Amino acid sequence: MSQLAIHNPANGEQIAAVPADDAASVAAKTARARAAQPAWAARPLAERKACIERFRACVVRDLESLAATMTRETGKPIKMSRNELNGLLGRLDFFVGMVEPVTATETVYEEGGMKERIEHVPLGVVGNISAWNYPWFVGCNVIVPALLTGNAVLYKPSEYATLTGLEIARLLHEAGVPDDVFIALVGTGPVGAALLEQKIDGLFFTGSYATGARIAQAVGSRFMKLQLELGGKDPTYVCDDADPKAAAESLADGAMYNTGQSCCSVERIYVHEKNYDAFVATFVDTVKGFKTGDPMSEDTYIGAITRAPQLDVLDAQVADAKAKGARLHTGGQRLPGPGNWYAATVLSNVDHGMEVMKEESFGPIIGIQKVSGDAEAVRLMNDTRYGLTAGVYTPDGKRAQALMSQVNAGSLYWNCCDRVSPRLPWSGFGDSGVGLTLSTYGIEAFTRPRAWHLRSP
Ligand code: NAD
Repeated sequence: MSQLAIHNPANGEQIAAVPADDAASVAAKTARARAAQPAWAARPLAERKACIERFRACVVRDLESLAATMTRETGKPIKMSRNELNGLLGRLDFFVGMVEPVTATETVYEEGGMKERIEHVPLGVVGNISAWNYPWFVGCNVIVPALLTGNAVLYKPSEYATLTGLEIARLLHEAGVPDDVFIALVGTGPVGAALLEQKIDGLFFTGSYATGARIAQAVGSRFMKLQLELGGKDPTYVCDDADPKAAAESLADGAMYNTGQSCCSVERIYVHEKNYDAFVATFVDTVKGFKTGDPMSEDTYIGAITRAPQLDVLDAQVADAKAKGARLHTGGQRLPGPGNWYAATVLSNVDHGMEVMKEESFGPIIGIQKVSGDAEAVRLMNDTRYGLTAGVYTPDGKRAQALMSQVNAGSLYWNCCDRVSPRLPWSGFGDSGVGLTLSTYGIEAFTRPRAWHLRSP
């Protein structure tokens, strides 16, 4: 069996090597999951819920070491790793609390001896190919409702979050999920591609548009349930009546949290000309106050860039913006290694002729553009192929509602940003994907509604 080497992006050191899957082992694991799924689905829901409750307790018990593992392999600042794990607990509670009402069999018609019922049956064996940036969140958004609703899961964590993926598997098994009902697949893209070759009943993907498009093509003719949660170029508009200082402080965090490596990071900012100078000044000051350094340090805010190739994307966006007349306020370059480091970067005087305002940066860089009013802001916010989130800062709720309802995005924010709730559906418009996770819809997504027509004799 070949080995997958795991490196710490903060210093380049190899921290582990784990046995990797290949096409044959992926096929064998799929066969095991197929054989195990019916018995799992036949278990009372209370037993499946109890497994997830025990899994939750294991996460709480091991939180410090799980956070350290995630930080070591992704470069995420340790406080943010803890935040992710603590945030996960509320999601687990939501899924456990809502699975019964969402999946209970419903009688929708009853008259003259005729009954109509909707039953929710599991999809069967589902695949989950996942991203590295919030491995617990994006993994468990799929894995947990899938298991609760009676599916078996083949889970391929990102090659940049493999140790975390293996921890998820270890704790689910310790919590009582049978070994063959939840199986991790270890490896890079070809292992994900091998999973697509298997006879599975659903594929749930989180990652880039490019890989999502490849996956959609690979499974297109197979009519399996396919969900793609992809990238974004999330805009925010700061109106003329907003407090520029408060908006700048909030949005600097929204742009730079997790070193800008969030699917819902603020990636474009439009500021009304009346507030522009004050906004940019506070924004730059706030970003300069973010400490870059060892991700294991408690006071680190900007950590490492997880994937080395992303450094080229950041360099290219900054060079393109500068060449076209952007003003660089801070950052704009790689930081010395070892490891993958990029300085938190703020660009103003940007426009839509620049890559930094069009394509996902997925790093600690942001462009701030001056606008003359609401109509221009809405037009620019919609000038994108993506549509994950969008926001507006104004004290006027009616104005915010009117503006946001014109913007094409799956999640809309008023005076906040970079926020995900288990109670709300998480989905993208356009090239940000198809399907959704979270909310009651994100539980239902793992079931097939089956229609029963029942005539009593
Ligand atoms: P990626 O597309 O490079 O990889 C994602 C996964 O796909 C990995 O597990 C990878 O091994 C696998 N893969 C690669 N090639 C494959 C192939 N040919 N067939 C099958 N699987 C293959 O993305 P990434 O770098 O891990 O994640 C970053 C991207 O994810 C960003 O664009 C980010 O915005 C997006 N993201 C979106 C959400 C969301 O909820 N919408 C959440 C997190 C991340």
